[in-house]
Amino acid sequence: MAEVQDATNVGKPVPIVLAEEDHQFVLDEEALEGILLKDDIKDRNVVVVSVAGSYRKGKSFLMDFVLRYMKATYHLNLINEDAHWIGSDDKPLDGFSWRGGSDRDTTGILMWSEVFKATLNDGEKVAIVLLDTQGTFDSESTVKDCATVFALSTLLSSIQIYNLKFNIQEDDLQHLQLFTEYGRLALEDSGTKPFQKLQFLVRDWSFPYEAEYGAEGGKKILDKRLQISDKQHPEHQSLRKHIKSCFSDIGCYLMPHPGLNVATNPNFDGKLSDIEPEFKKNLITLIPMLLSPNQLILKEIGGQKIKAKELVHYFKAYIKLCTGAELPEPKSMFDTTAEANNLSAVASAREVYRSMMDTICGGNRPYLNSNSLDVEHFKNKDIAIEQFIAKRKMGGDEFSESYKFKLENDIDEDFLKFKSQNESKNVFKSARTPAVFFSVAVV
Ligand code: GDP
Ligand code: MG
Repeated sequence: MAEVQDATNVGKPVPIVLAEEDHQFVLDEEALEGILLKDDIKDRNVVVVSVAGSYRKGKSFLMDFVLRYMKATYHLNLINEDAHWIGSDDKPLDGFSWRGGSDRDTTGILMWSEVFKATLNDGEKVAIVLLDTQGTFDSESTVKDCATVFALSTLLSSIQIYNLKFNIQEDDLQHLQLFTEYGRLALEDSGTKPFQKLQFLVRDWSFPYEAEYGAEGGKKILDKRLQISDKQHPEHQSLRKHIKSCFSDIGCYLMPHPGLNVATNPNFDGKLSDIEPEFKKNLITLIPMLLSPNQLILKEIGGQKIKAKELVHYFKAYIKLCTGAELPEPKSMFDTTAEANNLSAVASAREVYRSMMDTICGGNRPYLNSNSLDVEHFKNKDIAIEQFIAKRKMGGDEFSESYKFKLENDIDEDFLKFKSQNESKNVFKSARTPAVFFSVAVV
């Protein structure tokens, strides 16, 4: 039992993306790779769950309940048909730090250090990554930072929880504007919607007589807000049309107020006994609705599932894009995605070549005569290139042509290494070398 208790306490929030004082975004690559490139994680397709929205609206507080659910369901492999995952009444809430605080308020993205492992109904083994975002919105320049964090987390997640207080307002929809243009480009390119799930989460909903708490009531409100009519300004109409075309699934959940202890008591430590039962009841419905094994949504980019190790490429590419003074243009966001998408196809085809060559002439294989090695090289190079061509990539054929050249060069470079490694195993040659040296020395 003690072991199980300890196991629930592993993991911590890790700052992955940070806005520095000059508003440049930096990626902690080492920390990111430390989380995503673990041997048991890196080759799994990922589900990326993120929460975004403005400051002090209970995002981290919610994520800590998500963590409780994740630990109970995936970490400890407890099947939770009931509500036990939510924990006992007197347990303080920990995980991502909530309530804010001076030094924790830096704008950026935090990743939970533990990636959860799950098996889908069809047997596929996946990895679940949790992101919490933060930003302060206290001056002009930080508004841009927050918009960037919102953009980054939407680009990188498969489930984006858009956390709002009181209601869905027109400007909440306008924050999605950047993506609507991006989405239009992506749709033109591949015909697939660029993002998976957008989950509006309205906190402190106070009109349950108009629309009831939960997903049903949320749908009513969302349908109303996203409704398109001729009476609307044309800009409002196209915003709505494009939001719908960006996400494969859009939902809305109405949360009740958690009670005055949560909202105002400075000594509140997250204990369930201090939270309104109606709020607790809704957590028990909301969280499994998003994260139970049969609800998980895999991250896809350009219609392709993304592995944990590939997600690293995308983080790097998007951060580069966000280092300018301006918010990235949808067009350059799109090009960057297409580029990272092609680079990741190059990396995976190169890996195919390497692993096939490794089984033929790797470190623990005997020497192969150089003709046979050449034959193997050409054969495997062709297979790798075929795989690259067959993989659906963003940007079209012309765009990916230069990446095909890159793949060929990368493979030729690998071949030189395999070749010299193979030569070093040539006993005849190495046996002869000292003799030659010796005879030269004698002369
Ligand atoms: P974040 O900045 O969005 O991550 O917000 P936090 O999770 O740090 O929470 C900020 C404050 O809001 C804390 O004092 C929480 O106790 C409180 N809080 C959490 N959830 C809710 C909610 O649903 N409604 C209200 N009114 N307050 C909440
Ligand atoms: Mg927070």
